[in-house]
Amino acid sequence: MSQKKENTGFVCLNCGLNVVKCTNGSYRNHCPKCLYSLHVDTHPGDRSSDCGGLMKPLKIIHHARKGYQIVHKCDKCGAHSTNRIADMTEQPDDWEMVISLSC
Ligand SMILES: [Zn+2]
Ligand SMILES: [Zn+2]
Repeated sequence: MSQKKENTGFVCLNCGLNVVKCTNGSYRNHCPKCLYSLHVDTHPGDRSSDCGGLMKPLKIIHHARKGYQIVHKCDKCGAHSTNRIADMTEQPDDWEMVISLSC
């Protein structure tokens, strides 16, 4: 049994990519290829939501201190969340996707 459930790899439900956990210590909840996420958290990393819906990347915003963040919207319940993009790690987020979503 792992004590570190909050930072493990997963299989993307949108594109099927095997996503490895972040290697830079930050928490990853979205696919680096299609940027989709899953609605499993109420607060990032807590796994306390039982929605389980697919979260679609809507757009990229830039925060002065936190850097680039992906805004996700849940397909099932409509909840929004923002998450930092993953860089400086194994399987960094696909910049082509990130740039296509930023405005
Ligand atoms: Zn994916
Ligand atoms: Zn949801």
